[in-house]
Amino acid sequence: MRIDVRNTQRERLFTVDVDPDNPPAVVRPGGAGVETDKSEPVRDGKEVYLNWEQAVDDQGHLRRCPVCSCRELFARKDFPQVTGFLIVVGAAIVAMGMFGAGWVVEAFVVLGAVAVIDAAIFIFTKRCVVCYRCRSEFRDLPIRRDHPTWELSIGEKYRQVEESADGGQGADAAESDDSDDDTTRPAPMDSSR
Ligand SMILES: [Zn+2]
Repeated sequence: MRIDVRNTQRERLFTVDVDPDNPPAVVRPGGAGVETDKSEPVRDGKEVYLNWEQAVDDQGHLRRCPVCSCRELFARKDFPQVTGFLIVVGAAIVAMGMFGAGWVVEAFVVLGAVAVIDAAIFIFTKRCVVCYRCRSEFRDLPIRRDHPTWELSIGEKYRQVEESADGGQGADAAESDDSDDDTTRPAPMDSSR
């Protein structure tokens, strides 16, 4: 499993490869997972402690983020979106020039080719799992076929957390409030009188 580790401010720290069968409790920049040898001195203070408790289920699917312990993750296509955007924009410019020059058939050929290329990229790119809270990304791991993709409502929740946290401390409170607080809220039944 390859992890793009980010901190709670969502700043990209580093990328590590970890063994999902024997996941390390501490990872450092620049290579494979580090053994859980606490006697080794701290070198540069850039270690990230990973919490693997209940992070992976029996099938190897990620259930919670080992970086920040957030339980909400989404799957997305690992598609380099800037590249795809540039391909489409470039093809549109070329096609417009061709239309202007009267090369209508050739212009449609260009647009069709780009559509095929985009579709091929989309089909063959793998998926990755991303943490809603810290945006750490997880690759080269089994992903459930029905793993939920990005949901705006959940994303908004963590966006507000990020803005109100002002240092990252408020994020813990926000994660714990998803338990059952909406069942205890009284329903506004008597407002119709
Ligand atoms: Zn996370």
